Amino acid sequence: MTYELNDKVKNLTPYDAVTGNYKIRLDANESFINPGESLKEEFFSALAAVKFNRYPDPMAAGLCEGFARYYGINPETVVAGNGSDELISIIMGSFLRHGDKVMTCSPDFSMYQFYGKLYEKNNLVIDKKEDMILTAADVLEAAGKGKPAAIILSNPCSPTSLAMSREDILKIVENTDALVILDEAYMDFSDQSIMEVIEKHDNLIILKTCSKALGLAAIRLGFAVTSKPIARALHAVRSPYNVNAITQAIGVVIFSHPDYIKESIEKIKNARDQLFLGLLQLESNESVRRIIKPDTNFVFIELSNAAYVYEELKKRSIIVRQFGDFLRITAGTKMENDALIQALSEILV
Ligand SMILES: *Cc1c(COP(=O)(O)O)cnc(C)c1O
Repeated sequence: MTYELNDKVKNLTPYDAVTGNYKIRLDANESFINPGESLKEEFFSALAAVKFNRYPDPMAAGLCEGFARYYGINPETVVAGNGSDELISIIMGSFLRHGDKVMTCSPDFSMYQFYGKLYEKNNLVIDKKEDMILTAADVLEAAGKGKPAAIILSNPCSPTSLAMSREDILKIVENTDALVILDEAYMDFSDQSIMEVIEKHDNLIILKTCSKALGLAAIRLGFAVTSKPIARALHAVRSPYNVNAITQAIGVVIFSHPDYIKESIEKIKNARDQLFLGLLQLESNESVRRIIKPDTNFVFIELSNAAYVYEELKKRSIIVRQFGDFLRITAGTKMENDALIQALSEILV
């Protein structure tokens, strides 16, 4: 007998995360702030109290309460996940049925279409215009024609770095019967969240992550914020102990330090502004086509020779992400941003 992988998975390749050793990593939109000694001591004390022989709290109740307190929302609307990536996978896999249409935008976070394909959904793609700006009218018009079962988008968007206004997002949510999955992974760097009105809507799931603003990409922790009925359904379809005890313990500690989180966000926003201003200094260079003013912790720039610049940065042990003619550059420490700008000023001559 021979087993054959099906066509759907046969030629898939693992997510192409950067794995090489680079001195300066500005590719994955992580925070450049690694928790300091005193916070780490608190993590270690919390870990010392973990019962390693027992399954974790299946509801991650303490963790969800901490998250809800920090964001000022009802804890009953919160479901924790093993990274928001897991939540995207669960929602795509179980809230939609075989062949359902899922509306995504391009460019946007690549995992949406990946899971859409993997779970045999029908991906409908809205191509963003040249200016990369997405409006409620664009989405509603496409949804009116395509009649998707779900619409998924990031706000602010990765990779474009642009946020839609709260009013525009609400217009979408209020004028469609589709489930709207709104990924607010970068909203801590902007101010257009609609999390506080979550209970007014029955077709909305907001996704949050601890991997970006909170500086905890290592522990894999994300959240869905949604109506109580959808939260109940999400609890029912996820695997029972999806968030491990170690992650839960560290998550509880981080949300007990709202001042630390807010200070970190301020530092990251300052670094982002420094990076943006530094890049603007290079704007007169003829290979620079545009530098988008970011609502995120990264800058998206268009170049006439992005692939070349990407390779040249790599030679200098600086890694960023390339998307066609664009580079997406995560804000790093002042030294890292300075090094990047210095390198670009040499490469772009
Ligand atoms: C980084 C990122 C995520 C992934 O978050 P995890 O919690 O680390 O899985 C989700 N959505 C967007 C738009 C991101 O950029």
